[in-house]
Amino acid sequence: MSDYNKQKIVASVPQTGFFGHPKGLFTLFFTEFWERFSYYGMKAILVYYLYYELSKGGLGLDEPIALAIMSIYGSLVYMSGIIGGWLADRVIGTSKAVFYGGILIMLGHIALSVPGSLALFFVSMVLIVLGTGLLKPNVSSVVGEMYSEEDDRRDSGFSIFYMGINLGAFLSPLIVGKVGMDINFHLGFAIAAVGMLIGLVIFAVTKKKNLGLAGTFVANPLTPAERKKYGIIIVLVIAIIAILCAVTIPTGILNFDSFITLVGILGIVIPTIYFIVMYRSPKTTAVERSRIIAYIPLFIASVMFWAIQEQGSTILALYADKRTQLEFAGFTINPAWFQSLNPLFIIILAPVFASLWIKLGKRQPTIPQKFAFGLLFGGLSFLVILLPAYFVGADSLVSPLWLVLSYFIVVLGELCLSPVGLSATTKLAPAAFSAQTMSLWFLSSAAAQAINAQLVNFYSAENEMLYFGIIGGVSIVLSFILFAFAPKIQTFMKGVR
Ligand code: GLU
Ligand code: ASP
Repeated sequence: MSDYNKQKIVASVPQTGFFGHPKGLFTLFFTEFWERFSYYGMKAILVYYLYYELSKGGLGLDEPIALAIMSIYGSLVYMSGIIGGWLADRVIGTSKAVFYGGILIMLGHIALSVPGSLALFFVSMVLIVLGTGLLKPNVSSVVGEMYSEEDDRRDSGFSIFYMGINLGAFLSPLIVGKVGMDINFHLGFAIAAVGMLIGLVIFAVTKKKNLGLAGTFVANPLTPAERKKYGIIIVLVIAIIAILCAVTIPTGILNFDSFITLVGILGIVIPTIYFIVMYRSPKTTAVERSRIIAYIPLFIASVMFWAIQEQGSTILALYADKRTQLEFAGFTINPAWFQSLNPLFIIILAPVFASLWIKLGKRQPTIPQKFAFGLLFGGLSFLVILLPAYFVGADSLVSPLWLVLSYFIVVLGELCLSPVGLSATTKLAPAAFSAQTMSLWFLSSAAAQAINAQLVNFYSAENEMLYFGIIGGVSIVLSFILFAFAPKIQTFMKGVR
């Protein structure tokens, strides 16, 4: 997007009106609050829905398959961000992408709320994957659009936005978890659908007044010739996929295992292609190229971190259900409620971290160093959860406090990496790829979960010490490497801090 358009957008957004931030932050905060409410509420009960027996209202899948589906799902949800980012950047603009995305997500949750079969689950999965791809990266890039490049409020704007995400993620497992686990899974999914509906209404009603021109520009519109070219490419790609499916599914070449492998490969190949295309684009300047180089190690660190963090809703959800004493201190704990811990700790600690960075001022760690801390804490959160097996063995139930501690430690890492990464992405993004770079950030979560789909196969209660130990250990080693290279990476960032 041209600098002129960027300035026009900033001028069109009422610059105060929401905690000293542009008024549009209100709209984006609550849209994303409700979207995350529906996503994390659904996710908190989905794994149980997949592996609980039919008599308990579940689909009765084997646990490893349920865990792999969760990871693949999580991966595709973020992978589809490249479609959403591309469409926004080149065809419809971010605002429309957010709106249509919200509609697809809502339909996806409605599909889940109808008692049905595995087939219905897959329909819902497709809708939610595509919808989140349209909504999630784009709603975050609109946040970035509202601030001028020199505006010091940008980082804190992203922190507030991140609070909205986590407020949604905190409340929904409590509500959707309670209804879904105690009454009926489908009623739980229905609540998620209503959440998305509320988000959509807020967005539609307040966007004109609060967002001005933000989200309405198409950053790098297709030329008429490109339209034709891409039109043909899209039709061809869809046809090829359809033919491939028609051939490979009946012959058994494309089965569940090979699909997981395919997503694993895509999880790594797609970001690689992304980096190459951005790097080589004539629209990318020399300074932007250097920043892309700096972004690569941050991206890899981010993949490692999210691989651990995302297992909080797969392996640790299973752990909550199977390995944890749920009768505790006179209460019966709903296993889905553990999913509220991560966002709860984020909400409590985000202001602490924000003021810590302000207090440290120029002495605060650089962006690469913060990422290294992220990996360190991520690794420690896994080392902590291997201890109960060491003390009491794999056969006895363990205190829920171990899980609480693990979720707490991972959040220390998340606060060093996630809001920082979101904001750094908008700063390191080549201008022509602004919305797509946000998708690139989410591709790190996609790659992480594509890898997780393979990893979760290795987990069992008997070998959990080895499992948590190796993954946690690798993260800590990567953390040290990143610390060592942090100054070098910083120079490649060309002034971005
Ligand atoms: N938990 C955050 C969210 O849902 C971050 C997700 C990610 O970057 O993977 O927005
Ligand atoms: N902390 C995650 C995010 O920021 C939420 C979660 O994992 O529940 O959205």
